[in-house]
Amino acid sequence: MQSCAQWLKSNLSEIPDISDKEINAAGERPSEDSYVRMEKVNSLVIHHSATATGNARVFRALHRAVNGWIDIGYHFVIGNGTLSGDGEIEPGRPIWSVGAHARGHNRGSIGICLVGNFCETSPTGKQLTSLTDLLRELLEDFHLSGSAISLHRNVPGCRTECPGDNPTIKEILDALS
Ligand SMILES: [Zn+2]
Repeated sequence: MQSCAQWLKSNLSEIPDISDKEINAAGERPSEDSYVRMEKVNSLVIHHSATATGNARVFRALHRAVNGWIDIGYHFVIGNGTLSGDGEIEPGRPIWSVGAHARGHNRGSIGICLVGNFCETSPTGKQLTSLTDLLRELLEDFHLSGSAISLHRNVPGCRTECPGDNPTIKEILDALS
């Protein structure tokens, strides 16, 4: 299995001056008291990783060691069969805590990241199935309607292409709304 340090080196053009040991340690979950409690969830935001490979551990290392955040920015990561199972749902930040994935909207939103760069490729069938299942479950748990689901680039004030322009993701949103 690729270490977090190896993954960062192959995915970033510039990495900060941190030892491999520190980068790999940043792939571990921080202590529970690192988090800020979320008051009310009102939206579910879908992202892509914009990388060909990944899993919760390497994104956690990226977000902690490079961005300097307390933890991975997302609440869930859905694998594409590269560094985790195809369609595997890994937990990121605890669902009760504020994430770091949609500027200005983190205090009331859950961030779901699909591994892949959907400006260039499409999610796998298993990723889409897992995404649909997860969204259904979260809508029910938080008593939300389908209109609570957004693509990152449709979140007001967020300037990003994320998660690409993929028709299958739109179909999911249409089916759930
Ligand atoms: Zn995003």
